[in-house]
Amino acid sequence: MITKFLDEQSVIKGESIVIREVKEWLAKMRHGRAGATPTVRKAVPRSWVKYAFEKQGFECAYGCGETDFKKMSGDHVEPLAKGGKHNRHNIVAACRKCNSTKGSRSILEFAKYRGVTLGKFKLNRG
Ligand SMILES: [Zn+2]
Repeated sequence: MITKFLDEQSVIKGESIVIREVKEWLAKMRHGRAGATPTVRKAVPRSWVKYAFEKQGFECAYGCGETDFKKMSGDHVEPLAKGGKHNRHNIVAACRKCNSTKGSRSILEFAKYRGVTLGKFKLNRG
């Protein structure tokens, strides 16, 4: 099952992301919370991303200055892997570049990683 998962995922995702997802999934398995299929990643409805993008003043949440909505993807501010909720209030619009850099870091860890304060981020306060 893990092998099958890897094969399918590695076609569309970078290897390091796949490895991280498998680790997260295995961690869930150990805690008895994983379902029949690995569901580490949850699709974020486009309407949530749009909502957040408007709240943020039409730019990337992580202060890079990107304003093209087409480049935005939904990011869980507090990662699901760290207990963040899958709802509109935990979503920001982040460009794919910032989103993939953030990975499963918490918002505080990411600010620290970038050497900025939280004030630099345009968070969804809705
Ligand atoms: Zn960005």
